[in-house]
Amino acid sequence: MDLSLLDITGDCHSDPQTLEKFSRDMSAYRIVPALVVEPKTEEDVIKTVQFTGKEGLSIVPRSGGSDLSGASIGPGVILNFKKHLNQPLVVDQETIVQPGMILADLVKQLSDHSLMLPAIPSSNPICALGGNVGTRAVGPKTAKYGTIDAFVTSLRFVTARGEVVDTNRSLPEYLETGLRKIQQAYLADEAGRAIVARRPHIAGGYNLKAFEQYDQMGELAAHLLIGSVGTLGIVTEIRLKPIELRASKGTLVAHFRDYDEFTEASLRLKELDPAALEYSDASCCRHVDGTILNLEDPDIVATLVAEFDDSAEKVQTGREIIAGYDIARLWEINAGSPEEAALWQDRRRIQPSLLKYCREHNLLLLPIIDDITIHVKDFGPVVRDLEDLMRRLGIEISFYGHAGFGSIHARPYFDPSHENLKEQIETVSRESFKILQNYHGTLVGEHNAGRSRSIYLREELGTAFAYLQEIKQLFDPDDILNPGTLFSNDPISTHMDFTVR
Ligand SMILES: Cc1cc2nc3c(=O)[nH]c(=O)nc-3n(C[C@H](O)[C@H](O)[C@H](O)COP(=O)(O)OP(=O)(O)OC[C@H]3O[C@@H](n4cnc5c(N)ncnc54)[C@H](O)[C@@H]3O)c2cc1C
Repeated sequence: MDLSLLDITGDCHSDPQTLEKFSRDMSAYRIVPALVVEPKTEEDVIKTVQFTGKEGLSIVPRSGGSDLSGASIGPGVILNFKKHLNQPLVVDQETIVQPGMILADLVKQLSDHSLMLPAIPSSNPICALGGNVGTRAVGPKTAKYGTIDAFVTSLRFVTARGEVVDTNRSLPEYLETGLRKIQQAYLADEAGRAIVARRPHIAGGYNLKAFEQYDQMGELAAHLLIGSVGTLGIVTEIRLKPIELRASKGTLVAHFRDYDEFTEASLRLKELDPAALEYSDASCCRHVDGTILNLEDPDIVATLVAEFDDSAEKVQTGREIIAGYDIARLWEINAGSPEEAALWQDRRRIQPSLLKYCREHNLLLLPIIDDITIHVKDFGPVVRDLEDLMRRLGIEISFYGHAGFGSIHARPYFDPSHENLKEQIETVSRESFKILQNYHGTLVGEHNAGRSRSIYLREELGTAFAYLQEIKQLFDPDDILNPGTLFSNDPISTHMDFTVR
């Protein structure tokens, strides 16, 4: 590799410590890159694309590096935006940010303007806007307000050829005509569209529904890039339309003894349009290192947290709905109270608490089926089927997620000394996929399609998978941008690292 060809103003690292640092994200994978580039300007990004073309290297755009599926690591160049291109350019009703800006910082700055961006992942102190766009980020309020897709108005990105595209302006001719052609084919393909429509509300892979939503090719390109895990273009500027800040009017916490009742209550509460409807199972509540969700009650199966931001009356209607079930406990938490803050802090602590439990018991919390989404009506049956599977395999599991849009973070605990660990991982993944197929659910839900799950997209999408290939072929025919993630056929345990950390 001739680094003198890479004439950039930003930084460039090939020392072993930096390469090791960027060999991981928050997933179970480890791949040591050839080079880490930290661009200072868009021109640096273009020059890096040209350089990788000459050197035959691939590029993985990376912002916060909190990806759970191994989508922000790779063997070529890691293009890290967090170091320099991390500034807000405008914070207003029409916000413009650089991709490396940490989400929590933007949330704070927006709230100073009485504005909010409701798609806030629990990882907001470490994740950044480029990755939020790359994964089509969601948060507890997504059931009511949508994913980040609903708030992005346009993007600037660098293509695999090294051109700058502003989706507000005209696209290069090949993208304009190519996208139009794919759109026409998709709209004429009733069977393909029916497959896509059957998937849960939040599901990963390229956003094919965008073909039905956008007539203007620039807009279509922007909304295809959102959730494309860095495989279609390198985003250099994000324009957002935040909404007016809405405060909580009260929160209900209910402990259920039965999953069917939990499911029915979730569906009924959803009709009240709560700001958030969150779920954690009994095992999660046992492990959580907190105050409100921390429970040792043997009588409960699941906890439901419902926050309302419309009116206090809705809180009372929600209370009446929940009180009609055989619940172990129901709490009403006042808006703005210390208990409300403690509750959301507990919610954010679930994953760290599970990790701590694993460290203490020498277990691995591998995120392999952590990204399930289903139709909300199937909550009880899906969790029961997954519990049965884990019982048969002798594996402990915890579940939590966003009941409001059918998200289940299923977290099995693996023993690193198991003699067939890789086989066990493949079995858990494959058998879980089969269960979800029965319910039109997906393993590629909220967090995106990366190494740990994209292998199932081909089966899940059937004939509609061809559109994903056509889109990739149009934007990046030489597979330079983040190869091995969305279209990988490798067994999911390939490149996994089993160190307990
Ligand atoms: C504790 C924890 C909790 C989490 N909770 C949630 C949650 O509630 N909701 C949720 O959605 N996710 C959650 N996640 C997953 C992850 O944090 C999100 O997907 C987040 O949006 C990723 O942002 P990032 O900046 O860290 O992305 P990165 O890891 O840097 O990248 C993610 C993907 O986006 C691509 N990408 C990054 N920057 C660019 C760019 N400039 N141009 C093009 N592509 C780019 C990367 O190539 C990669 O494929 C959680 C993760 C952790 C560890």
